[in-house]
Amino acid sequence: MDSKPVKRYDLHSHTTASDGQLSPTELVQYAASCGVNVLAITDHDVTDGIAEAVVEAKNHDLEILTGVEISVTWNNVLLHIVGLNFDLDNVSLQQGLANIRDQRDDRAQAIADLLHKAGVPGAMEGAAKFSSGQIISRTHFAQFLLEEGYVKGMQDAFDKYLGTRKKAYVDWQWASLEEALSWIHDAGGQVVIAHPARYGLKARQFRTLIDDYKQLGGKGFEVVSGCHDNNATHNMADYARRYDLYASMGSDYHGPSQSWRSMGKLQPLPKGLKPIWDLWAD
Ligand code: AMP
Ligand code: MN
Ligand code: MN
Ligand code: MN
Repeated sequence: MDSKPVKRYDLHSHTTASDGQLSPTELVQYAASCGVNVLAITDHDVTDGIAEAVVEAKNHDLEILTGVEISVTWNNVLLHIVGLNFDLDNVSLQQGLANIRDQRDDRAQAIADLLHKAGVPGAMEGAAKFSSGQIISRTHFAQFLLEEGYVKGMQDAFDKYLGTRKKAYVDWQWASLEEALSWIHDAGGQVVIAHPARYGLKARQFRTLIDDYKQLGGKGFEVVSGCHDNNATHNMADYARRYDLYASMGSDYHGPSQSWRSMGKLQPLPKGLKPIWDLWAD
């Protein structure tokens, strides 16, 4: 019998390099305290947090995987594609991410302009104060709106201003699915469709997305996510089985007051699924 202890994986998390609340060092300490053994840092469109996390991980029984969560527009839907276990120094990947970060600055200004029209001045500077990394995210705008008393909570900020088709929502053309997948594959990594139940896709759209994705070489599907309820997990597991996708799991942890769930509490992968880590098994 193989008596190797089962590793606890968390393949989706955020630090202060994007819109998380914990520094990479703090995140690693927290993950280790939750019993996580393999952690992917997957900040939005930036990989700056990883080097610091790798250093801190040496003090714990914890392995860091490279990761990133790429903003993608597919058929007018904003999708998040997580890249895992790739070469950080890959030039086409890093150029692609740098380009998205430039786009983020333009979008942030457009959000601030809409907020101004909606009676909220100073949002650009206000949101920037909450960002300690290279990107400005809607999370930073939400924090600003909350601090200034325009909203009652983070969810309220998305419901009133920042969510899809709300007052300060800006539709944006991010990277294509093809670009995001080619960058990660070119860098030797694997791709995962992040929190697939969160996009509000109908069954037919799911089929089209998965067909497109597989045609481009996509293999991973985030079945277990901190922001999936049991029903969503069950449905996503069905898709993974039916389309022979590799299942991933991640908390999408953003920090103590911003998370769907804490780390280390994820349910195991449902039965009959191929885990994504089989793709890099020794
Ligand atoms: P962005 O990448 O700038 O479009 O911002 C998206 C981020 O906003 C997500 O990664 C979440 O961290 C956060 N977010 C989205 N929807 C919500 C929500 N309803 N409540 C709190 N945070 C949210
Ligand atoms: Mn986020
Ligand atoms: Mn996401
Ligand atoms: Mn995320």
